[in-house]
Order: sequence, then structure tokens, then C-alpha cells
Amino acid sequence: MPNCPECENALDIDADEVEEGDVVACEECGSEFEVVGVDPLELARVEEDFEEEDEPFEEDEEE
Ligand SMILES: [Zn+2]
Repeated sequence: MPNCPECENALDIDADEVEEGDVVACEECGSEFEVVGVDPLELARVEEDFEEEDEPFEEDEEE
């Protein structure tokens, strides 16, 4: 069982129960982690401020 990188609480997740792309939350500190790999289980911190994300999305609404 992996530990939370933030508070070292044991995360209650099983590699068999999650898959790549899943997001798990630490019950202790509330941090969220994305499962980036399951064999071995690997977690990446999910950043909470999406506001700086600048998506080059062009919407063509010309008609
Ligand atoms: Zn934690």
C-alpha cells in the first residue's frame, strides 16, 4: 500500500482496484493523486489550480 507523499498516511488503495488515470484522494490531508501506473503502483500529485491552464482551443462559431 502506498503512502501519501504529503502526510505519509497510508493510502487505502489497492493496485488491483485502480487503473491508470484514476484519481485517488488522501483521507488524511485531502490531497489528490492520479494513478499514473499500476505495476508498480505510481501516483502523481494532482494540482488543484486549473486556472493557469491555457488551452489553445479555438471555437469556430461562424455560420
Ligand atoms: Zn495525505
